[in-house]
Amino acid sequence: MNYYLLEELERYLRDPSKLNDLDKDFHRTMVVWDKADGHCEYCGKDLSATNEDYFRGSQIDHVISASKGGTEDLENLALACSYCNLSKGHYVPIGSTREERIANVKEHLLKLNTRNTERRLKSLEVFKEYRKRTIAGRP
Ligand SMILES: [Zn+2]
Repeated sequence: MNYYLLEELERYLRDPSKLNDLDKDFHRTMVVWDKADGHCEYCGKDLSATNEDYFRGSQIDHVISASKGGTEDLENLALACSYCNLSKGHYVPIGSTREERIANVKEHLLKLNTRNTERRLKSLEVFKEYRKRTIAGRP
């Protein structure tokens, strides 16, 4: 969500007679937000509980990427924090229903996070070893 859309929404709210003119994509974004109650559908993060404005830090994810044939239907859209959306990339979830696919993405992201945590811990160990042999070991 960017400021342009936020300003547009404010403009429409000031003049309710224009509500029907609201851009369809923008309206769909609002519906996705409403359905997810402002929480990332993958990690559960409350996207309203940040220091930033209500919509920043959130993205509308295509559960199946458009590049992989995913549609713009509500069934294929999910509210996601930018971290989850970026981590997911073009991963194609397994499942025949929206719920199955969302659950599969959650599983995929959990595995990715575990692998990243292992890598971080390993790099910390490597650094400690380096430090022991060089930095701390110097006279
Ligand atoms: Zn998330």
